[in-house]
Amino acid sequence: MKQVPWFANLLLGMVAAGTAAGCTVGSGDPLRGDEPSLALHDDALSRELQNSPVHHAGLPFSRIGVMMDSDAADDVEIATSTDGITWSAWQHIRVRHVEANQRSAFNGEIRLAQPANFFKLRGTPNKASFLRLDTVDDERAIDWEDGETPSNAALVTARFGNGYTFRTRADWGAKAVNCSGSLNPKKITIHHTDTPASNPQARVRSIQEYHRNDRHWCDIGYHFLVDEAGIVYEGRSINTIGAHAGGANTGNIGIALIGSYNNQDPTTAQMASTAKLVAELSDKFNIALSRSTVKGHREVGTTSTDCPGNRTFAKLASLIAAANGTPGGSGGGTNPPPPEEPTTSNLVTVDGFIYVGMNPSERLGGATVSIGTKSTTTRSDGTFSLPGIEERIQTISITKSGYVDVRVNRNIGVSTWVSTGLAKQASPTNPGTGTASLQGVIYRQGNSSDRIGYATIEVSNGRTATADANGFYIINDMAPGAVTITAAAPSFATNSVTRTLTSGTTEWGSVPLQE
Ligand SMILES: [Zn+2]
Repeated sequence: MKQVPWFANLLLGMVAAGTAAGCTVGSGDPLRGDEPSLALHDDALSRELQNSPVHHAGLPFSRIGVMMDSDAADDVEIATSTDGITWSAWQHIRVRHVEANQRSAFNGEIRLAQPANFFKLRGTPNKASFLRLDTVDDERAIDWEDGETPSNAALVTARFGNGYTFRTRADWGAKAVNCSGSLNPKKITIHHTDTPASNPQARVRSIQEYHRNDRHWCDIGYHFLVDEAGIVYEGRSINTIGAHAGGANTGNIGIALIGSYNNQDPTTAQMASTAKLVAELSDKFNIALSRSTVKGHREVGTTSTDCPGNRTFAKLASLIAAANGTPGGSGGGTNPPPPEEPTTSNLVTVDGFIYVGMNPSERLGGATVSIGTKSTTTRSDGTFSLPGIEERIQTISITKSGYVDVRVNRNIGVSTWVSTGLAKQASPTNPGTGTASLQGVIYRQGNSSDRIGYATIEVSNGRTATADANGFYIINDMAPGAVTITAAAPSFATNSVTRTLTSGTTEWGSVPLQE
């Protein structure tokens, strides 16, 4: 029988290629941001649909929201998996919102029968031109529809629109909402929507629908949006805390440039209007403008992102200078001149979490994560954050005493998220001393297809394993001889079977458990 290294499942689970996976963090608007799980345009999207790389979501999800530009929703299909090995059928996206004058741009979702950790896409290349995807755990989402009386609160629009075109919520056709949580602005964060820049007014409506229906936020996450013609759209009430920079929304005004600006400059008109808007906000809320009060999304919050795009990020100092040169934009005239733009914008922060075996909910604290000369230790919840990492292909090394070392390569910059499991080492009193293997499934007594995921397995020779999500386990490199295999899982009675291991063969040792 073909022998599979018993940690092969983990290696498969690590194939989390592609764009930075933003993670859904906690509950409540202060933690909600526009970091996508995946955002792809044009050729990059075609490559994705042809190759179907596996993406790890960071945290388990029960729903996927999709914003897409294509002739038909069926041009893209999505499959999900708990363990990265066993996959759901390919699922069509259920359309939830289409702009009447823009049939090719729509929002939709797929709902999962059970939570998953991995996803992949397939489709016909060169049909869809844009796709943004967010994995969502419904239990952490706000159900804004329950018991609320929507209203469009009167906003302070009279103070905006000096020297540029300002479109109110009524102008662009915003849905009425009722959000809670006051803002008390102290700073400003600049984003890009990472969507196409065309048809901006329809796009703003579409983003509001997406943030409400697919993310389950109470309203569009940004306070303002600016299109390439320099028109400013009023977003969420400036009196209400936003949902734009995960972990950094408190007191923070969110301004999003409509478009995608990693490889393309925002327009002159767009930056000019943004500077005037920033000046008005500075004046109204007495915010002294500097690089410490006006930041790019990538510089704040708890999740890694390339937002607001490299080209926008490079213009932040000139944006502040322009805003300070605008009458009323000095915040009282006491602010210092803007600092020089950092020249090492190719340094990023790598985030992620480390867990035990195949079980992402069993987090591993105290593991060492190293990239080049930089190194950090995972927190008690298994998470880590490693700043100052150069954008290029790097080897990430994860080690902890008692666990098998893991090395994984990532194209840092394309992906800044690393999440992987570490396999427990063989018990030191029983090191691998043979070539016998043992595999099996842990299942509900009376029904061998009803598997018990993440059950623990102890072999009488001292070796242990944790079953994967499908109840499967395999242990290699054991001495021959009789063994007792004991399996345990919460709410089940522990049970044992005995088997005799033979060198060079793989014995089946499945264990039924009774509730
Ligand atoms: Zn952003």
